[in-house]
Amino acid sequence: MAELYVDGSYTGYSSLERMPVINPADGSEVDSVPLAGSTEVDQAVRSAHEAFPAWRDTPASRRGALLGEAAEAVMGAVDELASLLTAEQGKPLREARLEIRRFVHTLEHYVGLAKNIRGGYVPDLDEKTYGLIVRRPLGVIGAIVPWNFPTTLLGNKLGPALITGNTVVAKPAETTPLTTLRIAEIMHEAGIPAGVFNVVTGTGEEAGQALAEHPLVRKVAFTGSTPVGKKLMALASNDLKRVTLELGGSDPMIVCDDANLDRAASAASVGRFFNCGQACLAVKRVYVFESVADEFIEKLVGKAKRLRLGPGTKDGVMIGPLHTSRGRELVEEQVASAVDSGAKVLVGAKRPEGDGFERGNFYEPTLLLEPARDSRVATEEVFGPALPVWRVADMEEALELANGSIYGLGSSIWTRDLNRASEAAERIEAGYTWINSPQIVYDELPFGGWKQSGYGKEHGIEALDYYTETKSVVVRRSE
Ligand code: NAD
Repeated sequence: MAELYVDGSYTGYSSLERMPVINPADGSEVDSVPLAGSTEVDQAVRSAHEAFPAWRDTPASRRGALLGEAAEAVMGAVDELASLLTAEQGKPLREARLEIRRFVHTLEHYVGLAKNIRGGYVPDLDEKTYGLIVRRPLGVIGAIVPWNFPTTLLGNKLGPALITGNTVVAKPAETTPLTTLRIAEIMHEAGIPAGVFNVVTGTGEEAGQALAEHPLVRKVAFTGSTPVGKKLMALASNDLKRVTLELGGSDPMIVCDDANLDRAASAASVGRFFNCGQACLAVKRVYVFESVADEFIEKLVGKAKRLRLGPGTKDGVMIGPLHTSRGRELVEEQVASAVDSGAKVLVGAKRPEGDGFERGNFYEPTLLLEPARDSRVATEEVFGPALPVWRVADMEEALELANGSIYGLGSSIWTRDLNRASEAAERIEAGYTWINSPQIVYDELPFGGWKQSGYGKEHGIEALDYYTETKSVVVRRSE
């Protein structure tokens, strides 16, 4: 039975209530985890707090070497971790393996930056006086992570936090704690000192909130929904904790009349249906120019029809179940309201029937044509495999609709005219814009949403700014 991972070992709390971890493909119980409360969270935070001075004072190159070895050990366990991830999350094994590799590559990105954590030098401030801009780690980081990419989103926090000398207490989603716990154990065995990376399991309201409120936690690094992000920002204001918030999105895709329609349709299909549509960065609204709409839609429908649904462990499966039954119901409600608003169902909009589908949260890839422009699929985040498509007259109309959202996470533009694309990329309100490219996130580029999609950046060199404070030091040479 899984336990909390604190101070370099599994910590048993026999008296704690436990929560089952359910396989979304068949409803079976994979394992169970303790529901930590404020006492257990306090113990984990204190362990991270005690480990902090020694980790902070470890030379950055040594921290990099240790993190590199830990990343390699995780890669060595890719098959074991991918099976665990598929069992608790539901995604196809192929995607689970990709996700574990992605976690490792993100850690390696930060290993590469270990020797490049820089401050500054300002000469001649005054006579015999110069200034230093010194960069220091913050202390204990509370990392709160959702269930859709439990390890990728952990890596985005763990990499910059550890390389800059912080220690971490992670709180995975209540439904996907197992892979994170096992990763913490592997990384510790590979050399990450006890207390540097701890994991507490439990609900958001109890364990998550206790972590976010703990006075020894200096920063909350959160990925999750916009409503919870707002709550955490308010909580953090009590003692002015640092926060980064990676929140919901409703990424528009604009397909112009000169676009490569085959590639655009592929990018829309992968961008919407990868991970069963449960991704923050995902194609969630398509605006296609009227003159090419029919051809584009025909290609997109063809691609959606070819996607094979099934349990993540079955060969050739491209779409697993939704993670929870509530998640599926929510998508069903949004699709139903789109249809009520006048949308035509091009494909899907129902649960698949037949053997193997009864016990899992399966839902067919769904394409909706022309729901009302103020319908729920236009204004809310759709966190599942349903994609609305609208025809537009031109770029002006497309940009107005694309920007008419509370979200500003990702976006994409498909056109062969790079002048038109670069002008649109400047005007679109989003943290990421892809031009003629599927929505692939690169460790090299800073990533973070505009508007209600978040605050602060992960990835890039820029992420290091969000895990350190700078201070100015004035040095006067005396006689
Ligand atoms: P969620 O906000 O419900 O939960 C995310 C995490 O926060 C979980 O670990 C949960 O236990 C915890 N939590 C919940 N309430 C809390 C509270 N009051 N205090 C502290 N912690 C609390 O999100 P979800 O529904 O699990 O995840 C899906 C959402 O995450 C979507 O909106 C998606 O777009 C977003 N997301 C964003 C990104 C990004 O990088 N911008 C990436 C992935 C997912």
